[in-house]
Amino acid sequence: MKIFKPLRFPYGSKIHGAKLTKDSPIEYMPAPATVYVSVSQHIGAPALPVVNIGDKVKKGQLIAAQQGFVSANVYSSVSGTVKAINDIVNGLGQKQKHIIIENDFSDEEELFDDIKDLSPASIVERTALAGIVGLGGAGFPTAVKLAPKNPLDVLVINGAECEPYLTCDFRLMTEKTEEIYKGIKLTAKALNVKDIVIGIESNKPEAIEAFAKYDDVKVVALKKQYPMGSEKHLIYVTTGRKVPVGKMPFDVGACVQNIKTVLAIYEAVSLNKPLTETVITVSGKGVKEGKNLRVAIGTPFSEIIEYCGGKSSDTVKIIAGGPMMGKSLSHLDQYVRKTDSGILCLTAKETSLAEPSPCINCGICAKNCPMRLMPMYIESFFLAGDYGNAEKYGAMNCIECGLCAYNCPAKRALVQSISSAKAKIREMHKNG
Ligand code: SF4
Ligand code: SF4
Repeated sequence: MKIFKPLRFPYGSKIHGAKLTKDSPIEYMPAPATVYVSVSQHIGAPALPVVNIGDKVKKGQLIAAQQGFVSANVYSSVSGTVKAINDIVNGLGQKQKHIIIENDFSDEEELFDDIKDLSPASIVERTALAGIVGLGGAGFPTAVKLAPKNPLDVLVINGAECEPYLTCDFRLMTEKTEEIYKGIKLTAKALNVKDIVIGIESNKPEAIEAFAKYDDVKVVALKKQYPMGSEKHLIYVTTGRKVPVGKMPFDVGACVQNIKTVLAIYEAVSLNKPLTETVITVSGKGVKEGKNLRVAIGTPFSEIIEYCGGKSSDTVKIIAGGPMMGKSLSHLDQYVRKTDSGILCLTAKETSLAEPSPCINCGICAKNCPMRLMPMYIESFFLAGDYGNAEKYGAMNCIECGLCAYNCPAKRALVQSISSAKAKIREMHKNG
């Protein structure tokens, strides 16, 4: 068994793991009576509904078709009847079209046909057909990443799961090792690459051991350092390649895929299943019983929390995702999307509700920024409406890892400001 040491990047921080559900095996949560399936669960154009109100659908039936190159198909996660197709403003404040399906609990399922000739092209085609997107949170359509313009020579699998609380990838790596391995091999075949490396944080020795048995996968035991799971940092520490500012992993011959994404590729190619379920962690001290759950896409967050025994009265914040990169929900009209990785119910002891105070120019945010930015300046340019200088100071290179806000003693909402600055800069360029 050979386990490799990573290179180091000098910035970032060591943050408390709080992996409360590490020892909870993945449970299958029965699908709810009604699912609310968004047509915008990916980067790119929303999928176009191909069903009408009153239609009977099976689990695994196409209900919204991808529109254009950067988009993704959406499938029903239950069998039943389409009750409505409505715009819903979710707990993140996003107005999205949802296809609302009443479950008839007959579990009638539609699968794809077997692939007859398993070629790279047929794997890419199946990945697109199955509606697979980057399930680490990015939501970029995976088939596009599997068909890069230039040849690649290394596939990097992201098993870092460096966000506190989240344990779904860890559980999958230990419970579904063989299926993930097969998904990795299919992905490598699609990309025509021979070198495969998987980066797993060293605080997950069981997962490291599980993958170290494969001779054709190089396992790198990553230092526990946030944000180790960011694509550019992961590529550097596992391969030594630096992705220059403004460039993408394929520019240095690499493709990064997440654990859940390669598992979805295996299920689509070998089991003929479209993407209708995902695995999430439900955690935080505010939830009665934290769990790792396999859930139907479109399941209401409220029902998932109830399934875990409900939330305690001292829950002060509910987050979709991890505490660093996840987003706080303003209400619970939120439904599981392909890219979800967790639901956190946090108590006052686990999170800060303090109001921001003026910046004291301590420089801590800049000291730890893994992208070597100066978040305090970008924020102040943004607040002054000076988007040109926000761009000049590198706003577009921010990976929104949340470390600056996490470390800021004045509790400034730095990521929120930088994220809004990025949107303004994009708008500025669009309007010339
Ligand atoms: S500026 Fe962006 S990249 Fe740097 S710490 Fe803040 S969120 Fe992370
Ligand atoms: S960490 Fe906060 S207080 Fe310190 S310089 Fe950055 S924004 Fe200002």
